Amino acid sequence: MIYDCAIVGAGFGGLGAALTLAEQGARVVLCESLKYPGGCASTFTRGGWRFESGATLFSGFDDGQLFARWIDRHHLPVETRVPDPLVELRTPQFTLPVSARRDELVARLGAFPGAPRDRLAAFFARQESLAGALWSLFDDPALLPPFNARALLTHLARSPRYLPLVPWIGRSLAEVVAAHGLADFEPLRVYLDAVSQITVQASAADAEAPFALATMDYYFRGTRHVHGGIGVLAEALLDAVRSLGGEVRLSESVHGLTPVAGGWRVRTRRGEVTARQVIANVIPQALTGLLGGEAPELARLTARVEGGWGAAMLYLGLSPGAALRSEAHHLELVDDPARPFTEGNHVFCSISGADEARGPGGARTVTASTHVPMAAFTALGPAAQGEYITRVQSAMGDTIARRAPELADATVHRLTASPRTFARFVGRPGGYVGGAPRVRGIASYLGMVPAPVRPGLWMVGDSVFPGQSTLATALGGARVAALVAGRSPPRA
Ligand SMILES: Cc1cc2nc3c(=O)[nH]c(=O)nc-3n(C[C@H](O)[C@H](O)[C@H](O)COP(=O)(O)OP(=O)(O)OC[C@H]3O[C@@H](n4cnc5c(N)ncnc54)[C@H](O)[C@@H]3O)c2cc1C
Repeated sequence: MIYDCAIVGAGFGGLGAALTLAEQGARVVLCESLKYPGGCASTFTRGGWRFESGATLFSGFDDGQLFARWIDRHHLPVETRVPDPLVELRTPQFTLPVSARRDELVARLGAFPGAPRDRLAAFFARQESLAGALWSLFDDPALLPPFNARALLTHLARSPRYLPLVPWIGRSLAEVVAAHGLADFEPLRVYLDAVSQITVQASAADAEAPFALATMDYYFRGTRHVHGGIGVLAEALLDAVRSLGGEVRLSESVHGLTPVAGGWRVRTRRGEVTARQVIANVIPQALTGLLGGEAPELARLTARVEGGWGAAMLYLGLSPGAALRSEAHHLELVDDPARPFTEGNHVFCSISGADEARGPGGARTVTASTHVPMAAFTALGPAAQGEYITRVQSAMGDTIARRAPELADATVHRLTASPRTFARFVGRPGGYVGGAPRVRGIASYLGMVPAPVRPGLWMVGDSVFPGQSTLATALGGARVAALVAGRSPPRA
């Protein structure tokens, strides 16, 4: 049999693509190496403990937004909660609770002694309007392939609703802050460095302003905790694909892709399948490997991903009686705000809810992550890499002990992970996560309109537009699938 589309990988990019194609009646086969879906946004069990593997806090669940639409349409058994606050940012100088409402955040920042309230209000008003313009650009039907950076700029300059964006293209988020006279307001500087690092994967000084301003909406766009873990949503999406007639093959790695007349031959661990089109939910390094090691058209994207990040992780099991806030919650910990928000100096900790029974005796678990600069990591030999990661994980432990002693005191079980773990488990050669950082410059706008890598071969996932996050990869997967099926793309 010839499939309409073979999808390599059941991360959120592959899940979004598979569901969209299955909804449109296409004959799809989805192959995933692991025995469970979700990739970097999955839930795994080890030794009786259940942890989020990477991603922990998710947007897109408000009425009409992508995940909410899928949950409604397919009656998915997925329960979500809105922690209040969503995240607590803790530094040596202050604690900032961040709720799901922009006006509350502005009020909390405005309550710091000496806060420039009017300038803060003006900055967040501009953020809201520029973010709105950029999100609408993603939905603009005028942006159809082929589309290059020059055409994008011409398009932006001709369309009045995008005019507010134009002055900020090629400039950093820090420049927008300075233009509002807020460069010396430390709580905002720290908040923005923290949120930029986890969204656009760059500090405020490096981040391309329109993208950073758009992704500052991360906390305000239907952001929720998935009860029981993000794996519940990933499994539910997989079941929806199956119930629409899609074929799902777990524990079935794809080993190679070869063009054949009318499509592609997909070689897997158990045999091979033929499909008219292929959607690869892998990073460019992995796709190059699947194509036999030669893919010059992926060289530029590969270099951009290699300018990015890996992750060091701590997975902690807590004692059953730990005295903590009972709902699932998130702590963003900064040890020294003057140092880069990486390598254990900045740690994002997500604590499961008391009613989720993630460990022995109903215990709770914590997933903690920090950024690892891959250029520095890969410059080391294998033994030095191991020592470096041990140092980063130890710095993470110190930051947790200083800023969240309630977690350190309750820890009874500990697992670790490194870029090597991500390479091994989710098929990301080298362990690159987070996609290409959206650093200042026009290159950040390349690839805004999906185009095939080769005829009938498409990429989805966090290396390509709209970039990293569970919502972004699911949306990107759904858009590529719509193009593959010849339909109009779904809205965010
Ligand atoms: C530590 C960390 C924390 C994060 N926190 C958040 C967060 O809180 N909120 C948020 O929204 N986002 C977060 N993210 C980002 C988010 O997790 C990712 O952007 C997103 O999950 C990536 O999805 P993907 O589809 O691109 O790839 P992946 O999740 O990597 O999925 C790819 C899938 O393909 C499979 N695969 C690979 N090669 C093959 C092959 N040859 N054959 C078959 N299958 C294959 C893999 O096993 C995997 O399941 C975080 C990421 C990390 C690393």
